[in-house]
Amino acid sequence: MEYQSTRNRSVRLSSAQAIVEGISRDGGLFVPTSIPQVDREFLEKLGKMDYIGRAKEVLALYLTDFTPGELDACVRGAYGEGRFSHPKVAPVVKAGKGGPWMLELWHGPTCAFKDMALQLLPRLMTTAAAKLGDRHTIAVLTATSGDTGKAALEGFRDVPGTKVLVFYPQDGVSPMQKRQMATQQGENVGVFGIEGNFDAAQSGVKAIFGDRAFAEELEKEGIRLSSANSINWGRLVPQIVYYVSAYCDLVAGGLPMGERVDVAVPTGNFGDILAAYYAREMGVPLGRLICASNRNRVLTDFFQTGRYDRNRPFYTTDSPSMDILISSNLERLLFHLTGGDDQAVAGWMAQLSAQGWYQVPEPLREKAAEIFGAGSCGDEEARATIGRLYREEGYLADPHTAVAASLAGPGTLVVSTASPYKFPACVLEALGQVPAGEDFDQLDQLSRVTGTPVPAPLADLRSREVRFRESCDPAAMLQAVRQGLA
Ligand SMILES: *Cc1c(COP(=O)(O)O)cnc(C)c1O
Repeated sequence: MEYQSTRNRSVRLSSAQAIVEGISRDGGLFVPTSIPQVDREFLEKLGKMDYIGRAKEVLALYLTDFTPGELDACVRGAYGEGRFSHPKVAPVVKAGKGGPWMLELWHGPTCAFKDMALQLLPRLMTTAAAKLGDRHTIAVLTATSGDTGKAALEGFRDVPGTKVLVFYPQDGVSPMQKRQMATQQGENVGVFGIEGNFDAAQSGVKAIFGDRAFAEELEKEGIRLSSANSINWGRLVPQIVYYVSAYCDLVAGGLPMGERVDVAVPTGNFGDILAAYYAREMGVPLGRLICASNRNRVLTDFFQTGRYDRNRPFYTTDSPSMDILISSNLERLLFHLTGGDDQAVAGWMAQLSAQGWYQVPEPLREKAAEIFGAGSCGDEEARATIGRLYREEGYLADPHTAVAASLAGPGTLVVSTASPYKFPACVLEALGQVPAGEDFDQLDQLSRVTGTPVPAPLADLRSREVRFRESCDPAAMLQAVRQGLA
């Protein structure tokens, strides 16, 4: 299996190279040259395995240059004993009698679905570098609006040969998210609050990535910069696994093998739903893929009109991890749907960067609409869904999951991306309660009201010492990175 760039199909890399390089020099994203096919026997075989077994089988189809031993070590490190609080890692749960199926992806160490990929990525990255004889220390720089930073810190912490530095907007993350990062443990981690918003943090990180002189300085010290966001194939491929696994679990629960199931995915950067597309193209019987957006409905409009236009107001919502106007992974979908038209993709992406919009031809939009449904849902409707699911089905959903559940029918598989305890104030209000006191009081309150336990990784934060108090001006980020890597 080889990988090519969405903006230049003559580029050919192994999966190890694609994972180490992250993004192609032409600005394109790496995609497989063909999508592996699975049949009924394969799904039946996986149905008898645990999550670790399933992950190894699916990853082996894409990461053909990794040995079985290497994949085994990576997968066990990520999903083995003690990493996830649920024995099935990514369980499928029926929400009451009348509700949809929920694919719960938040039983990892940070209580959000980013763990599914970011527990595995560091292992794939260091294994890939070792295979290629690359002896650099990998320094991961990440700007975060909340969930990705914490998941990257947990994933890379104390992984030999790596360091991880995270920048977050000092006043732009939730108190719980801030505490999660400020108390981060590990010897190879650094966390900095930025006196500015997420864009300032992101621009600062991008500027550092583009700084040739700094790269040479680091090269002398044997350090290579890398990124943990979802443009890396190594972050996407672990996400394909849970769609295959979920289908096996639905069959085990009585779904006739081969019957199609619609999937609703709360979407921001288009990574999670793109993984569902790969699973569907592999032959897993998934039906319509419902791309669920909050009020930032740039993708809904795209699927309805064929015009992707980021020139619009940006809204802050109850589902902050979906507050995004540039969904990077859509580029991969366009490449596949055009049959690999790298020139067309490069043109649209250039126009997006220069003018903030592009328009795809109507036949292409129709092709997308055969596979994808799309819809958007505001905060009020999502809160009403949280209340209804709880009252009628006894299921407690977080605000991101609620956006997808709002657009899902009863037989649909809804991707549940965060623990409701990550957003206690919003969830309490949706249940008709008045949130009391500070964040930890609200965790206890939500637990009292619903009779469900506070997840251990969040409860534990209370007793964790704050290790990182540093904040810096965006202009001083390079200095902070130097310090962090010293
Ligand atoms: C990141 C995130 C999403 C969006 O996923 P994408 O892959 O960016 O589309 C949805 N929900 C939660 C809780 C997230 O952290």
